[in-house]
Amino acid sequence: MNPSTNALPPRRLLLIGWDAADWQVIHPLLDAGEMRTLQRLIEGGVMGNLASLSPMLSPILWTSIATGKRAYAHGVQGFVEPLPDRSGLRPVGTRNRKCKALWNILSQAGRSSVVCGWLASHPAEPIRGAMLSNLFAVPQTDVEPSDWRVAEGSVQPATFAKELGELRVHPSEIEPSLLQQLIPRAAELDQTNPFVQRALLFLAQRLSEVISLHAAATELLERETWDLGAVYYECIDQVGHAFMPFHPPRLPEVAEPDFEFFKDVMRGVYRFHDLMLERLIQLAGPDAHVMIVSDHGFQSGELRPRKQVEPALWHRPQGIFVLHGPGIRADEMIEGASLLDIAPTALALLGLPIGEDMEGKVLANAFVEPPQVERIPSWEAVEGADGRLPKSLDPAEEDPAAAQAALHQLVELGYIPPVGDDTTRAIAHAEAEAEFNLAASLFEGGRFTESKKLLRGLTERYPDEARYWRILGQVCLSARTLDEAVPAVAALERLEPKRPTTSALKGLVAWSRDDLETCAAAFGEAEQIAPNDPTTQTYLGRLYLRQRRWADAERAFRRTLEIDPDSAEAHYGLSVALPRQDKIEEGIEHALYAVGLRHDFPEAHFQLGAVLSRRGWYDRAIQAFEITLRMRPGFVLAHRYLSKIHTHFGRLEKARQHREMADQLLAQGAQQPHVD
Ligand SMILES: [Zn+2]
Repeated sequence: MNPSTNALPPRRLLLIGWDAADWQVIHPLLDAGEMRTLQRLIEGGVMGNLASLSPMLSPILWTSIATGKRAYAHGVQGFVEPLPDRSGLRPVGTRNRKCKALWNILSQAGRSSVVCGWLASHPAEPIRGAMLSNLFAVPQTDVEPSDWRVAEGSVQPATFAKELGELRVHPSEIEPSLLQQLIPRAAELDQTNPFVQRALLFLAQRLSEVISLHAAATELLERETWDLGAVYYECIDQVGHAFMPFHPPRLPEVAEPDFEFFKDVMRGVYRFHDLMLERLIQLAGPDAHVMIVSDHGFQSGELRPRKQVEPALWHRPQGIFVLHGPGIRADEMIEGASLLDIAPTALALLGLPIGEDMEGKVLANAFVEPPQVERIPSWEAVEGADGRLPKSLDPAEEDPAAAQAALHQLVELGYIPPVGDDTTRAIAHAEAEAEFNLAASLFEGGRFTESKKLLRGLTERYPDEARYWRILGQVCLSARTLDEAVPAVAALERLEPKRPTTSALKGLVAWSRDDLETCAAAFGEAEQIAPNDPTTQTYLGRLYLRQRRWADAERAFRRTLEIDPDSAEAHYGLSVALPRQDKIEEGIEHALYAVGLRHDFPEAHFQLGAVLSRRGWYDRAIQAFEITLRMRPGFVLAHRYLSKIHTHFGRLEKARQHREMADQLLAQGAQQPHVD
């Protein structure tokens, strides 16, 4: 027997999901010593931003986290799906997921999981281990606590349902003292005021849900044997949508008394999660790896939406990532992590092979020693019991009351419109949204032709839906089919003449046609409409770069960063503009920020290489150019730089290879990307 196999520590991973958790909100709480458990994990482990995916909708994103795949590969495309007999809608769940989640993979590998509350996980799957679906803890306020049944299909093994169900806490059982943790002066609130009544009921429901889920999850983690513990908490997102407008600093439109009452709600919610985290970590034990992730962040400062908007506009593209445990570096920042990296990294931590069809990477820079990673073509091709349910409908597993409660919750949060009596219309709407989300995912994955096809169909059926036109315009720009963008611009000028996005799209089309005059006029118009819109400032910055107006570009990008300090685009822009004004070191710094905030950004890696080589740091420059080429093999200038550097060091064979690649690409008509 191989002794080193014996010496391997037990490989267990506790994966904790905090929907919408955001470093910009967390940092002040850490500084104030109010999240001590998280603080300990960070000090003994790694932390970083976690780049979200498009579209930024939670069920899609949590399925990407659990599968390592984008929406077009995993099949979860929205919040709701039609019932198989098309008599209504239900929350999306495991039945339409097209690929295996981590817990299915573990089942096949003979390992056990405890999965609790994961979004889009109903009905629970009969995996090796135990599973509670996200419908398990959804409160039903219209029934007495004694009549609150456990949703059919929400617990596996089903024999656990009764005793776990008894651990739930009904909204009517939430003690006032608990609400006082979130609203210290709750007793002074005018309880006859309908807004106050709604707010208190809403918080009682959210607390009921999170406490119930946590109670059942800790019970299972304590008594079951598991290799993967996956526990998901929706509370920060849900409460954020209602109470982040009251979070400090006070927004001008929030009245002083309201602010005073509700300013601590989010703080209280985060502190509560830190307490729950402490218990989870105890149960996991010191040998386990602990990973905390959020699917996206949440606007908390100046960028908070000021009007009623679609809830997804509150989401910020940077979620959180924390990893702690044996072999993980201590007290380090890691950069370039994306949602798609979670599943591969989890598999590596558990000592299981990665599927080549997973688009993400193992976050090797989190480890002291890079882990041995085994690869297989695809887990989908592995035969054997994976715990997934058959697609066909087993009516016993549909629970209309629980599904209704979950749907009602989605309506309340503004994620879906009220279903109403017109089922046909509601289904058509849900299907259109699913197609729209799929198109956004295909766009992000670079599959422009398929994306355009879906969007053309959608804009034909719904010519007044501006969002469909907006993204169609963007896809046409990326696909460089500019003529196809013209109808999109026209439709938006009709539907949304006074929005910066309309002017910006007009400007971008002109940009692609090298008509810089029209472009400047359109961007100027966008700036007039929304002087504080960071995206518009970024476009202006890009235009100034192209016009070689370095100081103007610098100003525009700095303005962006004042509003949105985590804008990868703006940091990239500065990494171009500053070296042109002989501020090389600062340029390097901003290039590093840019690739840190968004790893999948070949232009920024290229720019990093360019400034590093200007500074004479050739080894690191070579690395940056090689990353650029891995992301975009047709990047001619990266080949040119590499050829020059290798020539300089007398590595003539390598230099020749890159020179030939560059020539070959140019002969094939590769676009010289516009970089200075
Ligand atoms: Zn979310």
